[in-house]
Amino acid sequence: MKKTLLLLALPATALLAREARRSAPPAKIYDLVINHVSVVDVAAGRLRPDQTVAVAGGKIVRVGPATGRYAARQTVDGTGRYLLPGLWDMHVHFRGGDSLAAANKKSLALYLAHGITTVRDAGGDLTPFIYQWRQEEAAGTLAGPRLFTSGPKIDGPGATWPGSLEVTTPAQVSHALDSLQKLRVDYVKIYDSKLSGEAYLETIAQAEQRGLKTTGHMPYSVTLAEAVNRGLDATEHLYYVFKACSGKEDSLTALVRNSLTTSKPLGLFALLPAVYDTYSPAAAQRIFRLMAAHHTAAVPTLAIGHTLAGLAENDHAHDTLRAYIDPKIQRTYAKRLAGARQQSAAARAFSQKLEARFRTLVPQMQAAGVAILAGSDSGPFNSFTYPGASLHDELRLLVQAGLTPAQALRAATLNGATFMGVAARSGSITEGKDADLVLLTANPLADITNTRQIEAVVSRGKLYARADLGRMLAAIKNK
Ligand SMILES: [Zn+2]
Repeated sequence: MKKTLLLLALPATALLAREARRSAPPAKIYDLVINHVSVVDVAAGRLRPDQTVAVAGGKIVRVGPATGRYAARQTVDGTGRYLLPGLWDMHVHFRGGDSLAAANKKSLALYLAHGITTVRDAGGDLTPFIYQWRQEEAAGTLAGPRLFTSGPKIDGPGATWPGSLEVTTPAQVSHALDSLQKLRVDYVKIYDSKLSGEAYLETIAQAEQRGLKTTGHMPYSVTLAEAVNRGLDATEHLYYVFKACSGKEDSLTALVRNSLTTSKPLGLFALLPAVYDTYSPAAAQRIFRLMAAHHTAAVPTLAIGHTLAGLAENDHAHDTLRAYIDPKIQRTYAKRLAGARQQSAAARAFSQKLEARFRTLVPQMQAAGVAILAGSDSGPFNSFTYPGASLHDELRLLVQAGLTPAQALRAATLNGATFMGVAARSGSITEGKDADLVLLTANPLADITNTRQIEAVVSRGKLYARADLGRMLAAIKNK
């Protein structure tokens, strides 16, 4: 009886195929079928209307025109809906020490509820916890985005961030990379609070020899071209790309290098006004072409730049998302806020100007063939840059900067998967790939802010309807 019903539910073509192959195994019952949906093809940058997407065993097993009915444990009518690949946030942080581990863990729900099915942790001091969460997610006992991590950052002696691996000599660099490889990190994140230019370039070179990806900040005592030529895989934020857009980069770099042995070493922020004033379109084109040729990606992190540049002026007291940010994490917001309030009016005006200039770099990099990665930089200490929501801010700002919605969506899907080396199994709605999906009620190619119109999220093949996502958020809401 059951079998007959199942056969009736199959499309005619499948029935014929069964007639032809009587010995074939019984027809598959899919775990989930989304019918009559407009699939957002992020690779082609267009919609494929009226599709059926079938999911089984955590994978997308069928994508094609909606021509019949399918046997499935769960069926979703996708009429008038848009299906995106799950979003990737390519720059987040889990950090703040063991006492904040549980608070950090709660942010996983925020990511998932905002359609973010993969995040790349860009360094912190909670690596053992990240591995633990990853195991729980794989076992199906924890709902959250897939986690890539750099583990601890590499920096110089007396590093700003706790837990960093501090290196000066080539032997120390080698030792640090040994320990990261032992941890089986997904890539190496380099920071620049105390790191020497020499140790920075040495880290990239040694990591390159070991086949490890490197991304990072950069000491202003070296040039981005030096880092790109050594094999840097991505430059985080736009300060370092921006420095390379100066027509006087070499002399400014020499100025920094010479200052390091004096009582007044020049840092990034001291140099930025001079970099701004010497911006050269020709130098910009040169560095973008070099980055494209060496496949060095850029992670603009425009949203946090925007938030931090307006920190002193904008009142975040009534942000609704604060209800979902653990008070312990909210306490970490105080430091940047106090710093912003101490800034002079001139310094504030300059950071606004800088953010505006940064945005102009994004479409130029895209046109030159540089891979853009969407990253929010959300996490503890990064004031009011909320996990989940801030990636949607990033998408909006990438489009405001001049990317098309399709390019911005690629930056938050396929480009992330390609960067992490998993594009064969993630990043687009393609048969055989992971069933990480976001169902929207409005077209994100028409208006990028429609990525916020989330009806359901599919993570590892499991459907979270709006009510499920609501329950997930309620569970982490502050009492
Ligand atoms: Zn960061």
